[in-house]
Amino acid sequence: MSATKLAIVGVGKIVRDQHLPAIAANPDFDLVATASRHGTVDGVASYGTIEALLEAVPEVQAVSLCMPPQYRYTAAYAALNAGKHVFLEKPPGATLSEVQDLVRLADSKGLSLFASWHSRYAPAVEAAKSFLASTKINSVHVIWKEDVRHWHPNQDWIWQAGGLGVFDPGINALSIITHILPRALFITKATLEFPENRDAPIAADIQFSDVTQLPVHAEFDWRQTGKQSWDIVAETEAGQMVLSDGGSKLSINAEQTPVQPEREYPALYERFAEIIKAKTSDVDLAPLMHVADAFLLGRHKFVDSFFD
Ligand code: NAP
Repeated sequence: MSATKLAIVGVGKIVRDQHLPAIAANPDFDLVATASRHGTVDGVASYGTIEALLEAVPEVQAVSLCMPPQYRYTAAYAALNAGKHVFLEKPPGATLSEVQDLVRLADSKGLSLFASWHSRYAPAVEAAKSFLASTKINSVHVIWKEDVRHWHPNQDWIWQAGGLGVFDPGINALSIITHILPRALFITKATLEFPENRDAPIAADIQFSDVTQLPVHAEFDWRQTGKQSWDIVAETEAGQMVLSDGGSKLSINAEQTPVQPEREYPALYERFAEIIKAKTSDVDLAPLMHVADAFLLGRHKFVDSFFD
């Protein structure tokens, strides 16, 4: 089968860091165009909007949508409506209902829709899932604490409604726990901390449970300076499991498990190629559902204003 002609929309940080190298190394995709207000890719035809791209390059077969989540639905709708397969960066949208509408549209047109969760492809995630499946879990603690000034400079969208605030990184942790834990989770209690001058939270403390009353505690905080934490600690009958560095390292009872090198985005594009070939979609809304539930059930607390 010849390579799928691909376009990228929203040429920014994640496109340059991850999408371009992953696409260049994957023979199943050929990047033929981009649409972005400012960003371009050397040697690739560029357009200012997805509408202009779809009109000028009708041979495009698939698009990767990498703009902030508040602007993804309109672009995804236009792409699916024009008969293109769609790769959605995480989070797949700003609301659950808009993503469900995309699922409906993709199904009705026989197209593939991919809600990507890159952290699920971190190198130690599958080994953590296998370990947890082999024992009884007593409790889980998620610690996702990073310095927003370091990781998200000048990203106004992330602080605006729909930008998710601290859930932008936190949803990566949610994408991992919803994949590695054996049963569906639900939120029982949450506190979200909003800076007085921002629309999105800077911190969240969330308690989850499942049908067996498993206690799962998640702490997300964007005010962390010094050591950054992207860790999931499970106490189990077989001892302590620590999945650290965003899913890239695993230790069981303080013994490090060997893992393969990191290749999250190459694996995402392999999965996208696979679902296109299989004429199916891959849309798991669980991580976004938990974010929505935290906004629904959580206590909203105002804290000091945040200045860059
Ligand atoms: P970004 O660089 O701030 O934004 C990506 C591009 O989207 C921008 O360069 C901009 O391109 C376009 N854009 C920005 N605001 C827009 C608007 N109001 N309307 C339309 N287009 C707009 O963000 P990013 O870090 O690449 O993140 C983009 C998505 O990838 C987010 O959903 C994020 O959660 C996800 N992601 C990011 C990372 C990361 O490490 N940064 C990792 C994994 C996933 P133009 O100005 O050229 O239009």
